[in-house]
Amino acid sequence: MITELILPHIRALTPYSTARDEFSGEASIYLDANENPFPSRVNRYPDPHHRAIKARLSELKRVTPEQLLIANGSDEAIDLLLRTTCAPGDPVITMPPTYGMYKVAAAGNNLRVRQVPLTPSFDPDLTGIAANRDAKLLFACSPNNPTGNQLSLKIIEEILTVFPGIVVVDEAYIDFAAGPSALELLGRYERLVVLQTLSKAWGLAGARLGYAIGHPELIAAISRLKAPYNVNSLTQEIVLERLAQSVAMKTEVSLIVEQRRIVERALRELPNVENVFPSEANFLLVRFSDGDAIFEFLKAHGVIVRNRGGEPGCERCLRVTIGTPQENEHLIKLLVEKRS
Ligand SMILES: *Cc1c(COP(=O)(O)O)cnc(C)c1O
Repeated sequence: MITELILPHIRALTPYSTARDEFSGEASIYLDANENPFPSRVNRYPDPHHRAIKARLSELKRVTPEQLLIANGSDEAIDLLLRTTCAPGDPVITMPPTYGMYKVAAAGNNLRVRQVPLTPSFDPDLTGIAANRDAKLLFACSPNNPTGNQLSLKIIEEILTVFPGIVVVDEAYIDFAAGPSALELLGRYERLVVLQTLSKAWGLAGARLGYAIGHPELIAAISRLKAPYNVNSLTQEIVLERLAQSVAMKTEVSLIVEQRRIVERALRELPNVENVFPSEANFLLVRFSDGDAIFEFLKAHGVIVRNRGGEPGCERCLRVTIGTPQENEHLIKLLVEKRS
């Protein structure tokens, strides 16, 4: 039951009531929120319930507005999910190598992090997960950052079967992936939460907009806890404008996916490249024979990639984001020149 997975004090929480909660609709004079009356682009408080964004996203994602939590980036959604379901000292599961924020957000909330590493093929270790059934919440990233592989719906269902807590599937890169979204499983698992973001495929990293999709009761609980004005009005405007351009987004995504194939092929030709891991995201994880040296070499030539060599299973690996065709060409040219 989802209710039992929500902390009792959050279940009982009375949310802050904003001026705009007590009156919604159109009026000619607003003297209710202590705002400065002289017009500017941002003199009024934003909609704390993100109604317009929820309406558009629910259309795009075929979910109800009640299943949607809109946050200041998925990083805020991660923190809110933890604060809604985990008390200090509670264990949560992460599966390294993966996105570093899960561990930081958990540690920042005084939670215990149980790391259940992915297998050498970067698949979840179901036995290791089952051995940590007492954890409150598990983070699964799909496609995974930094490995790039997408989890099948079958393996996500297997996680949900062996693990009784909240399962958060972070789909920051889902628009680049060939496989289906875990949204397809929402109807069957109350404990499943899907995280997505406008920071990657939608090109709005600077605007900060992420969202969680889950059971309405869990979403309502998180919404009571969140800061009322967590998404500013400029971001809300920019997001609505961009969400109207899904065709343009898809064109950019196709171009990036095509470039990913081109860069992957070129990298495989290089003698110091030991492996290019298959990717369903907008980056490639590349194992070099001399990862640290290549990282420094690229940096010295003004090209910054992410050194992931310190992560378990990622020895000598760099994570390379797919750029514009010109940027990618420049990267490959540098690497080709380096070895000759
Ligand atoms: C980039 C990324 C995000 C995005 O976070 P925002 O706060 O929405 O920008 C979330 N999860 C993963 C795994 C990422 O790589």
